[in-house]
Amino acid sequence: MSERPFSDAAARISALLRIFLPGGVVGSVVAGEILPGTGAALELVNPADGRPFLSFADAGIPVVEAAMAAAGAAQRHWWGMTAAARGRAMWAVAALVRHHADALAELETLSAGKPIRDTRGEVAKVAEMFEYYAGWCDKLHGAVIPVPTTHLNYTRHEPFGTVVQITPWNAPVFTAGWQIAPAICAGNAVVLKPSELTPLTSLALGMLCDRAEGMPRGLVNVLAGAGLTTGAAAVAHRVTRLVVFVGSAEAGGQIAAAAARNIVPSILELGGKSANIVFADADMDQAILGAQAAIFGGAGQSCVAGSRLLVQRACHQAIMERLVVAAGRIPVGSPMDPATQIGPINNRRQHGRIAAMVAAAVEAGGHLAAGGACPDGLRDSGGFYYAPTIIDAVPPDAPIACAEVFGPVLTVLPFDTEEEAIALANATPYGLAGAVWTRDVGRAHRVAAAVRAGTFWINGYKTINVASPFGGFGHSGFGRSSGSEALRAYTQTKSVWVETAARPGMPFGYVG
Ligand code: NAD
Repeated sequence: MSERPFSDAAARISALLRIFLPGGVVGSVVAGEILPGTGAALELVNPADGRPFLSFADAGIPVVEAAMAAAGAAQRHWWGMTAAARGRAMWAVAALVRHHADALAELETLSAGKPIRDTRGEVAKVAEMFEYYAGWCDKLHGAVIPVPTTHLNYTRHEPFGTVVQITPWNAPVFTAGWQIAPAICAGNAVVLKPSELTPLTSLALGMLCDRAEGMPRGLVNVLAGAGLTTGAAAVAHRVTRLVVFVGSAEAGGQIAAAAARNIVPSILELGGKSANIVFADADMDQAILGAQAAIFGGAGQSCVAGSRLLVQRACHQAIMERLVVAAGRIPVGSPMDPATQIGPINNRRQHGRIAAMVAAAVEAGGHLAAGGACPDGLRDSGGFYYAPTIIDAVPPDAPIACAEVFGPVLTVLPFDTEEEAIALANATPYGLAGAVWTRDVGRAHRVAAAVRAGTFWINGYKTINVASPFGGFGHSGFGRSSGSEALRAYTQTKSVWVETAARPGMPFGYVG
C-alpha cells in the first residue's frame, strides 16, 4: 500500500468506516445496530498530524443498558447451540476478519498511528485467535471424579454469562480479539469498551462478529465511550458476571475494586517494566537486535516492552556503542509508509508524559545517549513523534528505571553477577515479562526461574501466541487470557453428583 499524505487521513478513515458501520456512522455496536451515544462529545485525533478527524457522543447509561440486554439474550441462545455450531460460527468470524484484513489494518494505522507493517500482522493474529478458539468449542469438557461414594460425580465448565471487557489504546483490534475469542468460546456474551482514543477497529470487529454466519446478534457488543462514564457503568451493571481489564495498573485497581463491590471476579492485564538481561557470553548480534525489538517495537507502547536493558559490565560499553548507532537508523515516520518501524505516539498526553519522564531522568543525572526529542524531519508534521531514546547510567531507583514509560525509551543498567542481575530484574512491583541472552544453558534456566514475570524469553523477545498463556505477576495483574488457561478463567466449574445406588439412604450430614 502506498504512503498517503497526512491530510488524506480523515477522508480515507471515513471511507473505511463505511465498510464496517452502516453509513460510516460511529456509535456503539449493539445487536448489530449502531446506537448513537447519549453523553458528552469525544474527539478522535490523528496521531500522525495532531488534527481532530472525527467526534462521537459518549455511549452513556441508556446504551449500556441496551448492550447488557442484547448480550443476555444472545448468551442464552449461544449456550443453547451445540458446541460444534459455536465453533463453526467462530470460524466464520475468522473468515470475515481475513476477508477485511487490509481495511482493518489500514483503519487501525490511520486512526491509532501504528505502522502498517505492525497492524497487518496484528489483524492476521486476530483471525488466528478466532480460529484457535473455534477449535476449542467442542473440546471444553469436564472430568469424571472417582469419589469414594456411590455417586457419579462430574464437572461442567459453564460460562459466567455476560463478560465486560475494557481495553487500552496501544493495540486496539489485537487486544479486542485476544479477549473476545476465548470469552465467546467459553459460552459467554461480551460487552467490550475499547479506549475512547481508539474505538474504531473494535467497533468494526464487533460488527463483523454480528455479520458472521451462525453468530447470534448481540453476542459481541462494543461500546463507544469513555472509561469513567460508560466503562464504569458497564463494570457496575447488575448483569455483569466477569470483568476483564487490560490497561494501566492505576485504572485496573479502581476497576477491580468496582467489580468486587458488584461481587464479580476480575482478570487484570496491566503494565510492566520488563528486564531484558544480556550476559557477556551472549550472541551479541542477536542480543542487540532483540534489545531494539523489545523496546522500539510499537514505539515502546507495548505492555511487554523490554524497557530496562540489564547489561553485564564486561559488554556494557560495546553494546551501548552499537545500540546508539542502531537506534539512530530505525525508520521513524508516517505509519502508512511500509518502511516505517516507529510511527507516532498514540496521543498528545502520552507524548507529553514520555518527554517529561525523559527530561526528569536527564535532570537526575542520566546520560541521554540517543534520541530524547521529536526526530528532526518530523517536527513540522504536527504528529506526536518521539525518536528512539536510550538513557544510560541511571541509578536503579530513579523513576525512569522503575516506572512504566510506555514509549520508545530504553534505560540501561549495568550489572556484574547473575545474582545482581536477578535482583535488579525483580526490583519493581511489576512482573509481566522479561528475557535473558546467554549461551550458558544452565544460567538461562536459572534466570528464567528466578525472575518474577508471567512471560519469559531465553535468547529472544516479544514472541507471544494465542495458544500460550499470557498474564502478569505482581502489579502486572492476575488471571490468564490466552491458551487453554483462558478457558478456565472464562468459565466457572460446576460439580454434579448423581446417586447410582439402588437404595440410597438420604444423609443429613456430609458424606464421602
Ligand atoms: P488506561 O488504564 O488509562 O485505560 C484503559 C481502558 O480503561 C480505557 O478503555 C479506559 O477508558 C478505561 N478506563 C479507565 N478508567 C476506568 C474506570 N475507572 N472504569 C472503567 N473503565 C476505565 O490505560 P491506557 O492508557 O489506555 O493504556 C496504557 C496501559 O495499558 C499501560 O499501562 C500498558 O502497559 C497497559 N497495557 C497492558 C497490557 C497487558 O496485557 N498487560 C496490554 C496493553 C496495555
